[in-house]
Amino acid sequence: MPSKEFNYTLTDILGQVISMDVQNGLKNRGMTRADADERRKAVEELTGAELTAVSVYPFEPEDAKSNIENMIGVIQIPLGYAGPVLMKGDYATGPFLIPLATTEGALVASISRGMSVLTAAGGVRAKVYSDAMTRAPVFRVKGIDHTTEVITWIASHTVEIDEEVSKTTSHGKLMEIETFPNGRSLHLRFSYHTGDAMGMNMATIATEAVCRLIEKETGAELVSVSGNMCTDKKPAAINSIRGRGKTVVAEATIPKDIVEQKLHTDVKSIVETNTRKNLIGSAMAGSLGFNAHAANMIAAIYLATGQDPAQVVEGSSTMTVCEEVDGDLYISVRMPSVEVGTVGGGTKLPSQSEALNIIGCKGAGNALKLSELVAATVLAGELSTLGAQAAGHLGKAHKELGR
Ligand code: NAP
Repeated sequence: MPSKEFNYTLTDILGQVISMDVQNGLKNRGMTRADADERRKAVEELTGAELTAVSVYPFEPEDAKSNIENMIGVIQIPLGYAGPVLMKGDYATGPFLIPLATTEGALVASISRGMSVLTAAGGVRAKVYSDAMTRAPVFRVKGIDHTTEVITWIASHTVEIDEEVSKTTSHGKLMEIETFPNGRSLHLRFSYHTGDAMGMNMATIATEAVCRLIEKETGAELVSVSGNMCTDKKPAAINSIRGRGKTVVAEATIPKDIVEQKLHTDVKSIVETNTRKNLIGSAMAGSLGFNAHAANMIAAIYLATGQDPAQVVEGSSTMTVCEEVDGDLYISVRMPSVEVGTVGGGTKLPSQSEALNIIGCKGAGNALKLSELVAATVLAGELSTLGAQAAGHLGKAHKELGR
């Protein structure tokens, strides 16, 4: 609806913006700085919004041409660091400062506090248990007998299927195709090793190529390359159970003296808070996430390092476990779906590249290391928040730092 300031209709706005983009040349998506400036001015003119802050950015729009369309500027999110955190992963070892982008006051301070406790306790042990990106197309089939024919064809033509995959990617390797028949629908779940890329484009392109072959050879008709059993960017039990991307566990044992000195509470209180809140409370709520606020840490590190922020959804299905072991606090996080890469996607943008350099994770050979650091950051945030809630300090910290 047109308001006082907006004395034109939505059709007018779209018409004018589109006609300007047509002049700029839709083919190259208008990705020069001049295109972005011109488009931004048009948006200012059409909406009455002043767009000064978004116009300041230290790279050329061409560098972002595979990341955005209709670019008018850049949204800035404050970047801080937490740590150091001492890592004893298989890939991340030694002390790390973790780059975090957020607008939530108290978050970085809280994660830093957790990292200080973890480091004083000897560091974080982390392990990647599986590494596979999935894409799950759905086919229309004729019924049970046709479904059986398709499944049999797939099982007996792995060489041809692998050949189709290799025509689309050099780093992507198909590991498995799981079958989920359901009447006249056949869901297939493809799992790929995607090297150091998060792999979602890679898996989608490869899967589509294989689907065309399956259609041609079996008569099954592809309805959608994504039939939602993948499951991308939606909370799903299949990801929590089977994993998607990297499945990572991080753990630490905090001596009881350190719990008392640094977290101002005790081991039993933290264990009880975790059990009643993260386990019982989450189960009662029907949550897939059994944690305090894993999404907070995941979002901040994903935004800083150029990951796909929508995949915070899958990351949030994390389970935090606390136990008293010989009087000390054992804490772990199981993260079934850490979908991260150190090449491709948003990782190549200049600011995000710099943030990846802070943790030595830029480029090939670093995706597993990054996933261990994500899990350690989540562990630190969970520990600090559980400590604050067990000690009754959570509201105080937010009042002091977040307002
Ligand atoms: P990508 O940037 O599309 O692909 C990664 C590229 O890096 C490939 O061209 C790959 O070459 C190359 N590469 C070079 N060195 C590599 C190495 N060491 N390991 C792996 N690859 C290497 O990124 P992606 O990870 O596949 O997809 C991420 C993007 O997908 C994000 O922007 C995300 O937002 C988006 N996304 C897409 C979908 C979708 O359905 N398409 C869904 C969710 C998110 P080769 O392929 O030749 O090996």
